[in-house]
Amino acid sequence: MKAVVLGFEESHFLEGLSALKRLSEFLGKEFEYVALAVSKDELKLLGYDELHLVRSDSTYKALNSLMSHVIDLNPDVLVGINVKDSVDVIGRLAARMGRYMVTDVSSIIKSNGDIYLVRPILGARALAYYKYTEGVFFTISGGKFQPYKDSSEPKVIEVPLKEEGFRVIGREEKSRGAVDIESAEVVIGVGRGFKSKEDISMATELAELLGGEVGCSRPIAADLGWLGEDRWIGISGKKIRPKLYMPIGISGAPQHIMAANDSRIIVAVNKDKNAPIFNYSDYGVVADLYEFIPILIKVLKEKLKR
Ligand SMILES: Cc1cc2nc3c(=O)[nH]c(=O)nc-3n(C[C@H](O)[C@H](O)[C@H](O)COP(=O)(O)OP(=O)(O)OC[C@H]3O[C@@H](n4cnc5c(N)ncnc54)[C@H](O)[C@@H]3O)c2cc1C
Repeated sequence: MKAVVLGFEESHFLEGLSALKRLSEFLGKEFEYVALAVSKDELKLLGYDELHLVRSDSTYKALNSLMSHVIDLNPDVLVGINVKDSVDVIGRLAARMGRYMVTDVSSIIKSNGDIYLVRPILGARALAYYKYTEGVFFTISGGKFQPYKDSSEPKVIEVPLKEEGFRVIGREEKSRGAVDIESAEVVIGVGRGFKSKEDISMATELAELLGGEVGCSRPIAADLGWLGEDRWIGISGKKIRPKLYMPIGISGAPQHIMAANDSRIIVAVNKDKNAPIFNYSDYGVVADLYEFIPILIKVLKEKLKR
C-alpha cells in the first residue's frame, strides 16, 4: 500500500509521517512511504522510503507536475498539512481522482474495530468522526501529530517540472508586511473595540514590550483595512498557537476563536462581562481597553525597567 505525504517544508513531512504511522498501526500493515515535496533546495528527510522532489520555488509553477505525478502514483492514502496550498492541491486531486477528502484532521482513533479521522467542527465546539476507508485524502492540523523521524534515508527521485498548461500572465504584489503571527510566541489581538486606526499603536507598544506581534479580527483587516491581512486571525485568516494570546476588544466569534484556541494561555480584555470571548479564556479582564492598556504598559515598563 502506498502512502504519500505532500508537503512544502520539513515539519509537514514529519507530522504527516506521524499521522500515517498511526494509521498503519491501526490497520496492522505498513505502507510504502513516499514524500512528495515542492522545494527549490535539497530536502533532508528521514523515515520515508522515497522522496519525490519537484524542484520549484512555487507550488503553482509545480502544480501540473504535482497533479500528474500523484495521478500516476495512485496512492492508497494522501496526506498534507492543513495549509492553503495543500488543501487546494489535495482538493483538486481528490476531485479529479474521485477520492473523498477530509480537512483539518486533529486525531486518528480506533473504536470497535473501525478507524476514524477526527476533526473539530462548529467553531471547535464539537468533533466530527469520519470513518476511514481506503483511498482517502486528508489534511492534518499543524502541531497535532508528534513529528515522526527515524534514521532511514529515502531514495530521491526527481520529478520533472512541467510548466505547460500553466502560464504566469502577470504578477501583482499583495501589500503585506513581513509578519509571521503563526509562529509568534505572544500575540495581541486587536478587535473592533478599538475606535480608530491610530489607537492600535497601544497594542503595538504592548506587543513590543511582551516580545510579540499584533494580530486582529477580520473586520480590522478586511473591512476597515487598519492592519494587513497577514495579521488576520480566524478560519479565513491565520491560525495561531502562541504561548500567550491576548484578544482585546474582540467579541469571540467562533470564526475568530477557532483559529486561536490552541494558544497556551488566553487572556481576554473586554468591557462587556458577557462577551463570548470569556468562555474561551484562561483569564478575563472586564475593562475598557482605553483605561486598561495604558496601565498595563506602565506596569510592564516599570517591571522591565524601560
Ligand atoms: C464565513 C465567515 C468567516 C469569518 N471569518 C472570520 C475570521 O477568519 N476571523 C474573524 O475574526 N472573524 C471572522 N468572521 C467574522 C466574525 O463572525 C465576527 O464578526 C468578527 O470576528 C467580529 O470581530 P470583533 O470581535 O473585532 O468585533 P465585534 O464582534 O464587534 O466585537 C467587538 C468587541 O469589543 C468590545 N469592546 C468595545 N469597546 C471596547 C472597549 N473600549 N474596551 C474593551 N472592549 C470593547 C465589545 O464588547 C465587543 O465584544 C467571519 C464571519 C463569517 C460569516
